This record gives sequence, C-alpha cells and structure tokens, in this order.
Amino acid sequence: MKSDVEISQETAMEPITKVAKKIGITEDQIEQYGKYKAKINFDPTTEKAKGKLILVTSINPTAAGEGKTTVTIGLGDALNELHKKVVLALREPSLGPVMGMKGGATGGGYAQVVPMDDINLHFTGDFDALTEANNTLAALIDNHIQHGNQLNIDPRQITWKRVMDVNDRELRQVVVGLGGRTSGVPRQDGFDITVASELMAILCLATSLTDLKKRISKMLIGYTYDRQPVTVADLHVQGALTLLLKDAIKPNLVQTIEHTPAFIHGGPFANIAHGCNSILATQAALHFGDYAITEAGFGSDLGAEKFMDIVTPRLQQSPDCVVVVATVRALKLNGGADKKTLNEENLDALKKGVVNLKRHVEGMQQYGKPVVVAINKFATDTDDELTYLQNYVTNELQVTGTIINSWAEGGKGAINLAKDVMDACAQPAKFHELYADDDSIEDKMEKIVTRIYGGNGIEFSSKAKNALKRIKKLGYDQMPVCMAKTQYSFTDDAKQLGAPENFKIHVSDLQLKLGAGFIVALTGKILTMPGLPTHPAALDMDIDEQGRITGLF
Ligand code: ADP
Ligand code: MG
Repeated sequence: MKSDVEISQETAMEPITKVAKKIGITEDQIEQYGKYKAKINFDPTTEKAKGKLILVTSINPTAAGEGKTTVTIGLGDALNELHKKVVLALREPSLGPVMGMKGGATGGGYAQVVPMDDINLHFTGDFDALTEANNTLAALIDNHIQHGNQLNIDPRQITWKRVMDVNDRELRQVVVGLGGRTSGVPRQDGFDITVASELMAILCLATSLTDLKKRISKMLIGYTYDRQPVTVADLHVQGALTLLLKDAIKPNLVQTIEHTPAFIHGGPFANIAHGCNSILATQAALHFGDYAITEAGFGSDLGAEKFMDIVTPRLQQSPDCVVVVATVRALKLNGGADKKTLNEENLDALKKGVVNLKRHVEGMQQYGKPVVVAINKFATDTDDELTYLQNYVTNELQVTGTIINSWAEGGKGAINLAKDVMDACAQPAKFHELYADDDSIEDKMEKIVTRIYGGNGIEFSSKAKNALKRIKKLGYDQMPVCMAKTQYSFTDDAKQLGAPENFKIHVSDLQLKLGAGFIVALTGKILTMPGLPTHPAALDMDIDEQGRITGLF
C-alpha cells in the first residue's frame, strides 16, 4: 500500500474553480490560493433550502485516531458516487499532531482531501494569522502596562496567554519582561497551542466579520488590582485584531481524491477546546450541498457533545444523523488488549470492549436524532471479529451498523454506509437539548458527566470553587460549559478504558471565555500545551529536490 502522501501527490486534481462550479459557487465568490485551493466569500444569510446535516464522531480512540476523517471523506465520496450533491466541512490540521504523534488530519489511504501536504502544512495561513493575532494582543497588553497601565491591570492576574502551533512543553510556564526598565514588566506567563486559543474558538463560532469583531471585543484578558474584569474593548484593539483575521475568517475550499468538494476551516482540538470546524464552513456546506458532512474531534464524549451543546444552538441547525465510528482495534484496546497486539485476533477483548461503543451510542441517542455505527475496517480485522461487532450493533444496540472500507477503496467502500445514512436522515426526529443556558454551571456539568460520560458527579478543587464564585458574582454563568478532558477515557484519567462506572470528574479550574461565549472546565491532568513524544513524526520527514515528500504519513 502506498503512503498517504504518495497517493495524494499522484492524484490528478481538478482545478478548484471546477470543483466550486459543480456546487454553484460563482467566480465572484472565489479567491484562489494557487490552482487547487481557494477561499470563498459567502454570506450565510442568503437563504436557500438547507441540506441535511450529518455529524461524524467516534468511540474513545487509540493514540492514532479511529478514522473519523477517513470515514467522513469516504462517506462524502460515496454520496458523490450516488449522484448526490454533497459537501464536506472539516477542521484544519494543527502542526502539533502533524509533527508529533497523531499525524495529519486529511484522512488516509484512498479517502483523503488533497493536496494533503499543503493542507497539513500552513495551508492558506489561517493558523499563522490566528497565532499572530493572539500574540499581537499579548504584546499590546504588556505594552499597556509598560506605558503607565492606565487600566490598572494586575500583571499577576493576566489570563491571556501567548500561543504557537507546535507542541512545546518548555513554554508552558515562562517569565517574560526580564532585562530591565526598557524591556517590560516582569511577570509569569505561559504558552498554549494555537488550537486552544480563544481566538480559534471565536473564528469557528463567528457568523460574520461583524460578529467576529464583537466577540473579540468581549474577550477577557485579565483582571485589575481591584479584581474587575478587563476586556479587549477596554484596550480598544478589537479593530486591529479583526483586521489580522480578515482572510482567515473565510472558509477554504479543496477537494477529495474523488473530487468531492470540502470546506476545511478552523481547527480547535476537542480535548482542550470545542473541537468543531467553523460554523461558516458548516453553513456553506449546508448551503451549497444537499448533504453536509462534518466531523467533531475525538470521541462523542468530547467533540460531539460540544457540537450538540455549543455549536448547534449557534448554527441553528442540529444534525439529521449522527455517525459513530468504531474500529475493532480500539474496542479491543477498550476491552483490555495490549496496544502492541491490536493486529491479532482477540474476540475476548472485543467482547469486553464493546461497552465503550454502547455508551457512546446511548449518549448520542439522548439528543433525539438517529445514530448509525460505521465500522471502519482495517486490513488486520478478522471476519469473525467484524461479524461479532456487526451483530452486536444490530442485536444489542439495535441501531444500524455498517462496515466501511473507504481507506482501501475510496467512495466505493462506503456505498452501503451512504445508503444507511440517507435513510437515517429521512427519518423524522426532534432534537433534544441536554441542558439549558440558564441551568446553573454545576447542573450543566453534572448533566454532561452523568448522561454523556456515565459518571456520578463532579469534584471541584479549591481553585475551581473560587473561580466558580467569581464567575457567578460577575454574572457570567448563563453560558455553556466546554469541558477540557482526556480523549482516551470517559473519565478524566486516560488509563480508565471501556465504560467505567461510579467515577467523579475532577475540575481543577474554570476559565471564562467571554468572546467564545463559554466557560472552559479543566479536568484531571489536561494540559493546554501538549508535549512531543519520544519519537516525534518530525524525525521521519523529508523532501527532495523534486519536491517529493516522505514521512508525512
Ligand atoms: P480521526 O479523524 O478519527 O482522528 P483519521 O481519519 O485521521 O482519524 O485516521 C487516523 C489514522 O488512521 C490515519 O493515519 C489514517 O490513515 C488511518 N486509518 C483510518 N482508517 C483506516 C483503515 N480503515 N485502515 C488503515 N488505516 C486507517
Ligand atoms: Mg480527524
């Protein structure tokens, strides 16, 4: 089998103008970035009958990922093959996982978006623009303090951090402003990864440039010496920051290997942020397609819960069908198999691990929309394993379970799934919200923990208790909660696999994100700046004189 980048580089792509034209994007709406990438100018308020929305999520993954992106792309290509007007909406890859452990985010095998090398590396510069805007704000805050600090900002209570889009654990805690009177005011600071930045969340939740600016002005940057909140509007730099994002806010258009149109825009992680591509990209996919397929990050406990509770109310449309991706491999891992043995048949572990899938399916069913399980087939899965899993889904979970083989076969490998998903989308179903905005913060979190994770409550650290008090006092408790939690487990402990019972979620801190409009709850040992593994993917990458790339998966 060829590597992903080999398959991508051998693909005969169509000019992006042709891909755009197929779905009715006019020449006026297109800004080309070379021949195969474009940004589009699109006004989501131009009404048209909206397409059906399909949300792709998964079980708790292995470190490599379970193939949500691969399934999303395969499913799109299959609908395309069935002559449906289908448009994808995906997240942009972050250099953190590309250079680190997990790899890119452009699918795999014969289900990829192309050009995968460009998309995985800088793409159209959105993340660079976000990084610059984020750090411009950091510089402006410190400059304000340096020049007299009229706003009375307490340097010890600045909550705005600097960012970069590479895993760099050395920068988690830093001291800035060393070097004397002319080099700033020394204070403790720290870096997050760009995908965890509030600006990233805002880019993904904003519905127009005006909304983007409004949200940016509301962002909290810290507190004064007398504990009053300070926002971007107080510094009066919302104009400059919005300016830096004027192109980044426009969705990017590319194509799959089989020329299905795909918007790829924004990329918050689902473990430390809200995990969904931009609302503008999803709106564009719904506008131009009869079917729009979007992926939410990591397992359904993270990205999909946030799609339902944070994105859906702002998008004003809920998914017509939820696809839960499961693999035999990850279920064996969840059933206690050693990660080194996942290529070997192990029915015992599979039978133990299916409880993980059950909890994900039942969690999603609470939102009232049909759930379909996509069994993403790996070459190492045995027939007995696949048959067992399919029977379990049909008989025990009583939902449709369909094997998908798009990694090896592209769209052809997902025709059955496409038909099942279209059937599901045609079923009448009503969306049920998990919590209301005016539920208390504790109630919102309690509902997520008990109904989605299967736990029995929350424990707040004393720091979190103080933060809760402050948020209530300031009157900001009417916002949704964005849980920051490990992706490997329903609990906040990455080692507890399967479907653990009787556990509590430990909240270490609560952070106000007034521009994004949510409260982040940090749980367990989650970090907002990841580290690189012992053998980062970067060690295996290369490019030759002809531009041939190796090691990019
Ligand atoms: P996710 O979106 O869930 O994180 P991806 O679609 O990015 O997962 O897939 C994770 C990795 O697994 C990628 O390297 C991809 O090429 C690979 N992969 C996905 N599905 C298959 C499959 N059926 N067989 C082999 N490799 C696969
Ligand atoms: Mg993915």
